Amino acid sequence: TDKTNPRPIRRLNETVVNRIAAGEIINRPANALKELIENSLDAGASNIQITVKDGGLKLLQILDNGHGIRKEDMTIVCERFTTSKLKNFEDLSNINTYGFRGEALASISHVAHVTITTKTADSNCAYRACYSDGKLVPAKPGTNAEPKACAGNTGTQITAEDLFYNVPTRRKALKSPSDEYNRILDVVNRYAIHNSGVSFTCKKQGSNQAEVNTLSMSSVLDNIRQIYGSIASELLGLSKSFKKLEFKLNGYISNANYNLKKMIFLLFINHRAVENSSLKKAIESIYTTYLPKNTHPFAYLSLEINPQNVDVNVHPTKREVRFLNEDEVIAAVGDAIQESLAGANSSRTFLTQT
Ligand code: ADP
Ligand code: MG
Repeated sequence: TDKTNPRPIRRLNETVVNRIAAGEIINRPANALKELIENSLDAGASNIQITVKDGGLKLLQILDNGHGIRKEDMTIVCERFTTSKLKNFEDLSNINTYGFRGEALASISHVAHVTITTKTADSNCAYRACYSDGKLVPAKPGTNAEPKACAGNTGTQITAEDLFYNVPTRRKALKSPSDEYNRILDVVNRYAIHNSGVSFTCKKQGSNQAEVNTLSMSSVLDNIRQIYGSIASELLGLSKSFKKLEFKLNGYISNANYNLKKMIFLLFINHRAVENSSLKKAIESIYTTYLPKNTHPFAYLSLEINPQNVDVNVHPTKREVRFLNEDEVIAAVGDAIQESLAGANSSRTFLTQT
């Protein structure tokens, strides 16, 4: 390059810009699926069926019995920043609190071929439409792109095919379909355990054997047993409110007689699966005094934090979240775990340490 004369600055074309932005939000099949599952749950579904081919790279399909999408909204549903979850300007604070940004479907449609089949309760038929780069596209060349009437039950089926077909570098980085499938199962397991009123299935296309299969009538503990087996008999329940710090804790942690080669940590903040490495470390360190060296606990924790105190937008994929008084909240959770492990009287009122 020429060190003395700058080259002209040029604007990237819109398709490229959208694809780059989409790739930051959707970086692998499992996190596309997480967004789709959250949408189904937001739509009030009690049954969610997932079908996968080649680790989600060839096909990722989710069928729910939620409230569906109105036909008139099908035109814009895959455009960026279109959402039914924020009503007005005042609701903008929710963009920070819940991460509803209307970006998920748009992003998926920029890096995959998307088909949506959906029916609302008051419509007498379902409608199907295909999307690419945020817009309606014809299902077959030469036909029009308008949603087509078809048969279907109330709810929504979303299919994403050939993920990253137009982002060769990303596609090449995801070499192992079986690794991607394990990540998908991890996401489904988490949501299946947490949502005790919702039945989940997850299977490979063409297989009649589901890897995940939970029932809508089962409890969180039933779901843990269904998915992780014998761990379920070695768990201590946690349930506690922290007024000052404005959060509630619910969960199950393994007792001192049980251990794993690797920690299983299922964390939910305001019903979204997230990661928090500081909290994970804090829990691991509590267990070091109870467990044999190089062994680890199981923990399923659900924190309900005042939404005003949570910032999910620190990471484009919303995987890591930040929240107010993080150190104090982590310490409080740690104390609750410590107390439960030590067999302390759980009715004792909790005093925040300062
Ligand atoms: P967000 O969830 O942030 O609103 P998305 O891009 O994930 O943005 O979804 C856009 C909109 O599409 C949602 O606000 C919702 O109205 C609709 N939608 C997406 N998935 C479903 C579904 N499974 N059932 C009903 N509506 C859905
Ligand atoms: Mg969404």
